[in-house]
Amino acid sequence: MKDVLVRATACEGMVRCVAAITTQLVDDASRRHRVSPTVSAALGRTLTAGVLLGSLLKDTEKVTILLQCTGPIGGITVEADAQGNVRGYAKNPHVDLPLNERKKFDVRGAVGSGMLYVLREADYYRTGLFRDPYCGSVPIISGEIAEDVAYYLTQSEQIPSAVSLGVFVLPDEERPFRVEAAGGFLIQTFPGVSDEVLRNLERSVLATPYVTEMIRQGMGPREILQTALGAYTFEILEEKEVRFACTCSPERARRLLAALDSKELCAMLREDGGAEMTCHFCNAVYHFNADDLRALLSESDSTA
Ligand code: ZN
Repeated sequence: MKDVLVRATACEGMVRCVAAITTQLVDDASRRHRVSPTVSAALGRTLTAGVLLGSLLKDTEKVTILLQCTGPIGGITVEADAQGNVRGYAKNPHVDLPLNERKKFDVRGAVGSGMLYVLREADYYRTGLFRDPYCGSVPIISGEIAEDVAYYLTQSEQIPSAVSLGVFVLPDEERPFRVEAAGGFLIQTFPGVSDEVLRNLERSVLATPYVTEMIRQGMGPREILQTALGAYTFEILEEKEVRFACTCSPERARRLLAALDSKELCAMLREDGGAEMTCHFCNAVYHFNADDLRALLSESDSTA
């Protein structure tokens, strides 16, 4: 089953809601970065938050979620666009912690305290435009990520929000584990919403099971939204696939290398006989042999 996101509106436009299944993309990220189960949960929740926030962007924008934290995971960076593409990484992908007292991944223990930053900016690669980004931040109050993103949206963006995120993994024969279910939902209310609607929504959201439980029962984003909204009906504005996708390429890696000083390129050629570049976001490795480096050097000679 492909990962899907549904964005909808309810209560005469006073309520905005998004739900997404992200099982494949979290599995994809976990495999690429060879993360531990704990990091799979932490990174997977953040990637899912990225997908949810990405769906609220204008077409040409992108959003970055940055957790700068003191816990052993060291930090998480996630970037998403409005087209359903998301990529991201954890600073220390192999950190693993025992399950917490509720038999869940100890994401809070891995993250610790620190700051959550959210940056929204025009996607330079899509628009060729560079505008000052919008940046908001809050202290990490929970470390479980969903609460932190909700706190950010409510405090910094001043939109009361409920966020639920989850990742469930199972042992696998060929790999240490696989992601069996991942997803999340976001519900936001706008000024003018009645107290009655607020009360009812609060009750239904609180009564909603874990997202991963609903996904494992076979529920899709529509059913998840309906469960979270309780008695309220909603109108779907958008339904689309979401995926882990990186913007790196051999050509971009080559351009980065070409931007280096020729002295550095010479040193690489002499000492290593080549160069290797790893993309933080997707862990792709780009190799350049001695001939590639010589070609880059002769280009930089001819442009000097
Ligand atoms: Zn990449």
